[in-house]
Amino acid sequence: MALLVQKYGGTSVGCPERIERVADKVARFRADGHDVVVVVSAMSGETNRLLDLARSIEPHPQPRELDMLVSTGEQVTTALLSMALHKRQVPARSYNGSQVRILTDTAHTKARIQHIDGHKLRADIDQGRVVVVAGFQGVDPDGNITTLGRGGSDTTAVALAAALSADECQIYTDVDGVYTTDPRIESSARRLEKITFEEMLELASMGSKVLQLRAVEFAGKYAVPLRVLSSFEEGPGTLITMDEDADMEAPTIAGIAFNRDEAKLTVLGVPDTPGVAYEILGPVGEANIEVDVILQNTGEDGHTDFTFTVSRSDLNDARAILEHSVAQLGAKELRVDSKIAKVSVVGVGMRSHANVAARMFKALSEVGVNIQMISTSEIKISVIIEENYLELAVRSLHTAFGLEGDAGVQQ
Ligand code: ADP
Ligand code: ASP
Ligand code: MG
Repeated sequence: MALLVQKYGGTSVGCPERIERVADKVARFRADGHDVVVVVSAMSGETNRLLDLARSIEPHPQPRELDMLVSTGEQVTTALLSMALHKRQVPARSYNGSQVRILTDTAHTKARIQHIDGHKLRADIDQGRVVVVAGFQGVDPDGNITTLGRGGSDTTAVALAAALSADECQIYTDVDGVYTTDPRIESSARRLEKITFEEMLELASMGSKVLQLRAVEFAGKYAVPLRVLSSFEEGPGTLITMDEDADMEAPTIAGIAFNRDEAKLTVLGVPDTPGVAYEILGPVGEANIEVDVILQNTGEDGHTDFTFTVSRSDLNDARAILEHSVAQLGAKELRVDSKIAKVSVVGVGMRSHANVAARMFKALSEVGVNIQMISTSEIKISVIIEENYLELAVRSLHTAFGLEGDAGVQQ
């Protein structure tokens, strides 16, 4: 008998019939003798619908009010799932984030969880109840409702699993595990039996939305056993594991991630003098805009070009700041390009295999994909390319690194 925290995503609770299927599944786990805490997302499409509704009133709503609005989606599914469990004679109770007291900081729309009081939930569990908690939301010290960023129900589940010392945190979704790349882009993508936290962290931060980045960070920090599984079919899913042990599939590359949410800014003809990078990026950082890939060309005639990427939602703010800097620095011109994408290959095997970069660049050159920028870390290589070539790039890299086919055969 184990204590399981199970999270069901938007598609898994997308309509009343699917909520009933989730209730059947939870009831089966209970019948097998397990204690179950369930975290649910809003019905698929609901969070977007609520955001559109807000914007139809005011293009830039106050973040506090946005959180008040979008948190309602999860409240609906928790209550419906509890009702479906009652119908099956399973005692259950639904709670929203503030009732559990999922305490967060005050950063509306991207709040971080600071503390969870597990006592109340423990009491319910001890009395034989299934607890159903609204994902994606919490409450700040002043009692304001906060939300945890898109995909945040994953983080709610992992944080609850940590607070309750659960035996496993199970993320049920519309794919049956973590794949070598998004199976919607590459149909020959392969499910991984296991993946290390380090790799999962890198995949999530490079754009694979199968798990929210913060959920993986949290699970790593508190050593929460984490598994991604399908809501719709039985199977072992993918285990996210701490150890890089010998029986682990140890290919050079574990997977390929991509991100369409980037935009590129280039300042042309900047004087090539000390301090220029700071003068360009300093004001961007002060405006709380996160900079991702950076490239500075070799100077010529005392001038150079400076390029960096930001998230697309920050492009307009970054552009306004840079227009000011261009004038101040006496640079020639500012160019922006939002039709770019980032493709990353990720794998701990990179540490012991040379030539990964060369293999990557060869594969891209063979299909005529031009690399605009490159960035590397110990277990990742990312390239910025034209957005139109994204799918072609992902597929050719998937083949070049032998990711399809039988598990564990690639070097
Ligand atoms: P949920 O609503 O259950 O949280 P998400 O849409 O957030 O589901 O995440 C699941 C989706 O993640 C899949 O449908 C898939 O398209 C996408 N995805 C991206 N990269 C991967 C990957 N490497 N492995 C599996 N799924 C991935
Ligand atoms: N409903 C929220 C979203 O769509 C949170 C989640 O599903 O994890 O982002
Ligand atoms: Mg998700």
